[in-house]
Amino acid sequence: MKIELPELQYSYDALEPYIDEETMKIHHTKHHKKYVEKYKAAVQDTELEGKPLNEIFPMISKVPFPVASNGGQVYNHNLFWRSMAPGSKKEPEGALAEAITKEFGSFDTFKEKFSEIAATQFGSGWAWLISNDGKVSITSTSNHINPLMDIAETRGKPLFCIDVWEHAYYLKYKNKRPDFIKAFWNLVNWTGIELRFEQK
Ligand code: MN
Repeated sequence: MKIELPELQYSYDALEPYIDEETMKIHHTKHHKKYVEKYKAAVQDTELEGKPLNEIFPMISKVPFPVASNGGQVYNHNLFWRSMAPGSKKEPEGALAEAITKEFGSFDTFKEKFSEIAATQFGSGWAWLISNDGKVSITSTSNHINPLMDIAETRGKPLFCIDVWEHAYYLKYKNKRPDFIKAFWNLVNWTGIELRFEQK
C-alpha cells in the first residue's frame, strides 16, 4: 500500500459555503501533505516501510511516535475527505439507518449526540461513528488517535469522522467549533458511508 496524498474527489470550492475553499486548500495541500511526508520519512528504511497502516494501528503503542502520529493523521484525513461530498443526501437509508435508529432511537438524537461529543472533545482531535459487528457507536479521540489503534479507548471500524483540530475550521468559524459541526451535517457523504458500513 503506497502512502500518498490522495486527490480529493471534489474541488476545493465544492463544499462551499459550509467549508470554504481556502480552508480546504490549506488543509489538504499543507497539513495533510505534511503528515504524508513526515510519515514517509519516519518509516523510511525501517521494517515498517510499505506496511499497510491498518496492520500498524493495532500495534501502534509499539512503534515510534512519529510513525504513530503521522500515520494516524494520514489515515484520519483520508477518511475525513471521504466522509464528505457536495450535494449529499441529508440522512442515511437502509441498514445503516436502521442501525443508527436501533442504537440512538432516532436520527436526530444521533446527530445531537455526535455533535455534542465532537464539540466537547478537549483540544485537537476527531469524532467518529464506528461499528462493531453491525452495532454502531460514537466516540472521540485526541490528536492523531483513531479507533483502529490499540491505544484507543473505544475501538471499532471507522465509518466516518470529523476533524475538530482548529486548522479544520478556524479561518471561517474562528473559535465557534459547534457552528462548524452544524455545517458539517450538510456535507456528510451518507451514500459512501452506507457502503462502508455494509462492507465486512
Ligand atoms: Mn486536519
